[in-house]
Amino acid sequence: MADSIFTKVTRLVIKIGSGLATKKGGINLSFLSGLAKEVAFLRKKKCEVLLVSSGAIACGMDLLGLSRRPHELPKKQAVAALGQPQLMNSYSQVFKKKKLRVGQILLTRGDLEDRHRFLTAKHAVCELLKLDVIPIFNENDTVAVEEIQVGDNDQLSAMVAHLIDAQLLIILTDTDGFFDKDPKIHKDANRIPVVENVDDNILKLAQGTLSSKSTGGMITKLKAAGSAAMYGVKTWIGDGRDPRILSRLFEGVDCGTLFLPRKEALSSRKYWIAYTLKSAGQIIIDDGAVNAIRDSKKSLLPSGIVEVMGNFDIGDAVEIADSYRNPIARGLTSYSSKELEKIKGQKTSEIEKILGYQYYDEVVNRDDLVVL
Ligand code: GLU
Repeated sequence: MADSIFTKVTRLVIKIGSGLATKKGGINLSFLSGLAKEVAFLRKKKCEVLLVSSGAIACGMDLLGLSRRPHELPKKQAVAALGQPQLMNSYSQVFKKKKLRVGQILLTRGDLEDRHRFLTAKHAVCELLKLDVIPIFNENDTVAVEEIQVGDNDQLSAMVAHLIDAQLLIILTDTDGFFDKDPKIHKDANRIPVVENVDDNILKLAQGTLSSKSTGGMITKLKAAGSAAMYGVKTWIGDGRDPRILSRLFEGVDCGTLFLPRKEALSSRKYWIAYTLKSAGQIIIDDGAVNAIRDSKKSLLPSGIVEVMGNFDIGDAVEIADSYRNPIARGLTSYSSKELEKIKGQKTSEIEKILGYQYYDEVVNRDDLVVL
C-alpha cells in the first residue's frame, strides 16, 4: 500500500453530505458513479468501506417540489420517509454497475445509547461486511424525535467509526479541507493540512462557515473529527467534488486536512459515555473539584458540587462543568438530581445522615468519568 493516510487502514467510513449526493432536480448521479468507482478501487486494495450518506430530506423535497427544507418535525419526518428509499435506490443502481452491493442501516442515537442495541447493530454490520456488502448509514429521520436524535450526519459518522472500530473517517465536503478562514469568502484563506488537536482555537476558526445545504457546516465536521480522535480514529476532510479524490489520497497526494488521533485513545465504553450518551443534566463544580478531576484524576465528590441542573436519575449521563458553565467532563452519576440537591457541597461522611442511606462515596466514580 502507498505511504498515505491509508497505511494500516483496513476499515474506513466515508461520510457524504446532501450537497454532494443530491443536486437541484434530485440525486447527483454523476457524483454517485464517481464514488462507486473510488469505493471499488478501495475494495480492491482490501479496505472495508462503510458509507454514511445524507440526502433523504433533500430527495424528498425534490420529489414533493418543495423549495425550502421543512422546519416542522412531522413534515421533516414525512419528507425523509419519501426521500430515503429514492436515495438508496440510486446508490443500489449506480453501485451495481461496479459490481458492488449495498445495504441500508438507519439509526437513531437511541440505538447506540443502549449497550445491548449497540452490540446488536455492530454484529449486523459486521455480517454485512463479511457478505461483501457496502453498508450505507443514515439517521432514521422518520422516527428520530429530538430526544433520540444524533442531529447531524457528521457526528453520526464518528459514531459509526466507533461502532465498527474503523481506523479512518473520511468526510467529503465541498472545500479542499479546513482553512484558517472561510475559503468561499476570503481569497487569501490558507488550507491547514494537519490538525493535531481540535481545541477551542480550531473551533473558533470555523465559526461562520455554515453552508446552506448541510446541517452543520465546518463546525460539526470538526466536532466529529475531535470525537473520532478521542477513540484513536484519524479523520480526513476533503473535497468530494473531485471524482478521483480517494485514489489521489491513496497515492499520497497532499490535499484536504488530516486530523490526528489521540495517542491515548479512550476505551469503547468511555467513548460511549462521552460521545454517544445524551447528557440528562449538568453538575456545576467549584475550582477545587475542577482541579481534582482534571489534574489529579480523581472522582467527583459531593463537596465540590455547587449547582445541579436538569432532572436526572441514577446511572444517567451528566455533563460536569466549571463555574463558567464550560463543560470539563462527562460521566455516569451514582445519585439522582433530587439526591444531589440535598447533598451538594457536603462532605461524603454526611451523605448517609442527610439521605438516610449512602450508595457510594463518589457522585461520579473515576471509572465512569471522562475528562473532555
Ligand atoms: N439525515 C439527513 C438526511 O438524510 C441529513 C442530516 C445531515 O445533513 O447531517 O437528509
